[in-house]
Amino acid sequence: MDEELGGLRVSLSWLLRDTTAALRRLAMREVEIVTAIQDVSTVMQALARPYCQVPDCLRRAARVVEIDLPASWEASATYATMTVHAGFCLEHGQEVEHRVGALVEARGDLHNLLVIVEAAILAERRFRTAGVGA
Ligand SMILES: [Zn+2]
Repeated sequence: MDEELGGLRVSLSWLLRDTTAALRRLAMREVEIVTAIQDVSTVMQALARPYCQVPDCLRRAARVVEIDLPASWEASATYATMTVHAGFCLEHGQEVEHRVGALVEARGDLHNLLVIVEAAILAERRFRTAGVGA
């Protein structure tokens, strides 16, 4: 079945067959593109759910722990901290939270311990000056 279109002889059956094949190829490409988009989406979702920040722990992060890092370890009673948030699995999150608590407590005790040591040194110096225990 041929048609005359503007002086161009066209086989309608050939045109129909070729158009159908082109649409099939297009549909297959569309499936490939949708599959590729789904793959990228899966990877992006995986990246959005990070792993536990303890090296060699392969578990997913299940909780965020707030970590206050003392900025200085000088004799001052007050000190600044830098706060960071990190994701951990349940087990490591609990352990890191416990260790951060101990670290902040040690930093808080540092000033009091230095005051006690300084008082002890001054008391010893006074005793020596007064000749007590000599
Ligand atoms: Zn972990």
